Amino acid sequence: MSDSYSAALTIDIGAIVANYRLLAGRMSPALCGAAVKADCYGLGAAMIAPHLRRAGCSHFFVATVDEGLALRPLLPGARIYLMNGLPPGSERDVAGNELIPILNSMNEIERWQAASRSLAARPAGLQFDTGLNRLGLSHDDAVRLIADPHLLDGLDLSVIMSHLACADDPEHPQNRAQLRRFREITDSLRLPPRLGNARILRSLAASSSIFLGSDYHFDLARPGAALYGINPVLGTGNPLRQAVRLQAKILQLREVDLNMTVGYGASHQFRGPSVLATIGVGYADGIFRSLGNRGAVFVAGQRAPIVGRVSMDLITIDVGHLPRGSVAPGMNVDLIGPDQNIDAMARDAGTIGYEILTNLGARFQRRYVGAQA
Ligand SMILES: *Cc1c(COP(=O)(O)O)cnc(C)c1O
Repeated sequence: MSDSYSAALTIDIGAIVANYRLLAGRMSPALCGAAVKADCYGLGAAMIAPHLRRAGCSHFFVATVDEGLALRPLLPGARIYLMNGLPPGSERDVAGNELIPILNSMNEIERWQAASRSLAARPAGLQFDTGLNRLGLSHDDAVRLIADPHLLDGLDLSVIMSHLACADDPEHPQNRAQLRRFREITDSLRLPPRLGNARILRSLAASSSIFLGSDYHFDLARPGAALYGINPVLGTGNPLRQAVRLQAKILQLREVDLNMTVGYGASHQFRGPSVLATIGVGYADGIFRSLGNRGAVFVAGQRAPIVGRVSMDLITIDVGHLPRGSVAPGMNVDLIGPDQNIDAMARDAGTIGYEILTNLGARFQRRYVGAQA
């Protein structure tokens, strides 16, 4: 890493593209899209999404209108879906930039119908809530839409979707219950014919649900986490490639002795002489404070526990057990890498890989590797 940085984040675009291909293979003959919301989970959508497009992905899922607008010029010809719906007042931006709003309420449906009359019809999607109870048309809305198909008049529907609550637990009974509910809705709705008789795609699967089996595949998946290397089925072997390496420099070494403590709150006390290394990353960089006295980093492949609290810009690790001379200021240690993947760090931090990724900070030197020209 260059001298002015104390930490570097390396993002392997080749691994992300390989993960896309693996997921697309699992989904075949159904389609595989990509969730690129939250800046590709913090990894950089502008850098990554065009490579997914070149790898054959043509369905991109973001949360917000701004995310869609930022990606629109970078993904010519691709569909970009706004999963968080249609904010009041955004109709003109959405329609004018060929973004596809996922309509989550009767009010959003009505506003898109009105916008389609004045701004020329544009495709939209519908999301039905089938048990997550988070976002989407309710059970009562579904009953109304099934009873009166005219409520959907004037919509050019390109996708109908729902989202599972427990897909990372293959045994959870809610998976089957939501699947049944999604089938009932998609089988019962009488949908308006599409322009040019284009297909209306049904989409239920995100990363984990791709691995629940083909019952859950329908026509289109929208994985995010698995693209970026997070294990879609925790507790089983991860079939995906790691896409992230996070390294930071050792800034100082110091000798400590029996009964000395380290860090704010003096939360770790040494039981004998040891050596501490201070590393130039902290919670402002997304290294969770909950890793204090719990997590570890890797020094030349050797585990070194984080001792004391994580502070804003620094962490301290115990390297007393490593051979003298094998650790020196200026050396890089691995926080996320070959010896510790995102899921392992998340477990130590008491969270999930998604939160680790989306919190990775802005102070790192960022490097993108593995991209095909
Ligand atoms: C975030 C999200 C996805 C992608 O989920 P992953 O678990 O990261 O694959 C898909 N669909 C919806 C509705 C989402 O909110």
